[in-house]
Amino acid sequence: MQAKAGSDQQYVLALDQGTTSSRAILFDRRGQPLAIRQQPFTQSFPQPGWVEQDAMEIWSSQLAVARAVLRDHGIAAGQVAALGITNQRETTILWDRKTGTPLAPAIVWQDRRTAAHCAALSAAGHDALFEQRSGLRLDPYFSGTKLAWLLEHLPGARARAERGELAFGTVDSWLAWQLTGGRAHVTDVSNASRTLLFDIHRGVWDDELLGILNIPPALLPRVVDSSGIVAHIDAGCLGGEIPLAGIAGDQQAATFGQVCLAPGMAKNTYGTGCFLLLNVGHQAQASQHRLLATVGWRVAGQTTYLLEGSVFMGGAVIQWLRDGLGMIASAGEVEALAATVPDSGGVYLVPAHTGLGAPYWDPQARGALLGLTRGSGRAEIARAALEAIALQSAEVLQAMEQDAGRALAELRVDGGAAANDLLLQVQADLLGVPVVRPKITETTALGAAYLAGLAVGFWADEGELAALWQVDRRFEPGRSADWRAAQLAGWRRAVQRSLHWAEGE
Ligand code: ADP
Repeated sequence: MQAKAGSDQQYVLALDQGTTSSRAILFDRRGQPLAIRQQPFTQSFPQPGWVEQDAMEIWSSQLAVARAVLRDHGIAAGQVAALGITNQRETTILWDRKTGTPLAPAIVWQDRRTAAHCAALSAAGHDALFEQRSGLRLDPYFSGTKLAWLLEHLPGARARAERGELAFGTVDSWLAWQLTGGRAHVTDVSNASRTLLFDIHRGVWDDELLGILNIPPALLPRVVDSSGIVAHIDAGCLGGEIPLAGIAGDQQAATFGQVCLAPGMAKNTYGTGCFLLLNVGHQAQASQHRLLATVGWRVAGQTTYLLEGSVFMGGAVIQWLRDGLGMIASAGEVEALAATVPDSGGVYLVPAHTGLGAPYWDPQARGALLGLTRGSGRAEIARAALEAIALQSAEVLQAMEQDAGRALAELRVDGGAAANDLLLQVQADLLGVPVVRPKITETTALGAAYLAGLAVGFWADEGELAALWQVDRRFEPGRSADWRAAQLAGWRRAVQRSLHWAEGE
């Protein structure tokens, strides 16, 4: 490979393996993305509630974009100081240790096939134990019951697992295995903390939880720090033995990429849904508000914990205005339309179209449009939709503040809908704290790059990363505490009308 001018330049390569596409991004020392390559891949829905992917396609698409980003920019492997992985979380893969062949399609995080198993575990009284140890709820979302399903349904799998012939991994493990030709069977603590099998306090696989789910320990990857050289990748992959030095699940990586490294710092990603994460320091916080306690990252043996809350319908409510109602032609139009009115005129849109996530967790809730009068038009509804994204996020953040016993100083934001200035202003008004959008919103890949780069000395320390984080725009709160309380009270009243709706069908 012919390197271009400036071939002494060094970069960090982030592999961002998402739910719908694999991406590879090169970052320079200033944390600027030099180049991005992206390739979508197939998801299949073989039965209602099932979501699968081809693990080989996950790997081949990821390798293809990594090769392409280097090739297209004339970057030699020797110029890549380190490689970091960030990934769709919880997606479960089971493969043969000898051949590296997956035994079945990957079961994707969205897959609900283990709902009955989770309900049975709850009915048997296991909720409290799983929550105390793993920080999670007994929900099909997480890997543990997906792995149990594979062992139960693939002929001979359990016996082979017990003989040590099989390997389990989330997508990070799978990629690390492939990148090292099977030399590394590892996962980082952030990914391990999404399996239901991991004691987040002691930082080890938990024998009791494994016993309840009937998972043979011989399947499990070795748990490593999120930042640290795990192995060198095979030269056959990218033309050189690049150190694999950083791994984190996507939301944790985004929190790291937003440099929310001190307790009390939080980020919200406004994508299809909203993912809010708050740094609570080196001690896990149990939630009194049905949020998740999760590992953020472990660097130099020290674990940082987060509280996590997810809102199912965030930016997707704007998609619904566009595609469901035909009210706007593009998502970007919503801002101008909503800005034609000073407020929603008492209209509330509760986007419970697919149930409600944190802090309600009501799968039977359904969407509602309330408070309509003859004065309510498109603009009021558009405004109510934007406010709904911000109101849901404000409620989760309020719950987080109460759990953590500390007030938020500011909220850092990213994701597609964070392009909407009006949304962010409304968010600041509702929270009573500044909302800050960084210049670089590729925070997920950036977080993986930072974790990898720190491990090899590409960046000296966390202080250097903090200095690289640059504000694009800061939205200052402009409303009184009384106004905020009234808005949230109105919202809660509206939500009450939407709860349990589908139960009456
Ligand atoms: P994901 O990663 O979940 O696919 P993105 O981060 O790409 O999502 O964000 C896309 C979402 O953001 C869509 O749901 C879209 O409706 C919403 N969105 C995009 N632009 C805007 C905007 N200007 N205002 C409000 N919502 C927007």
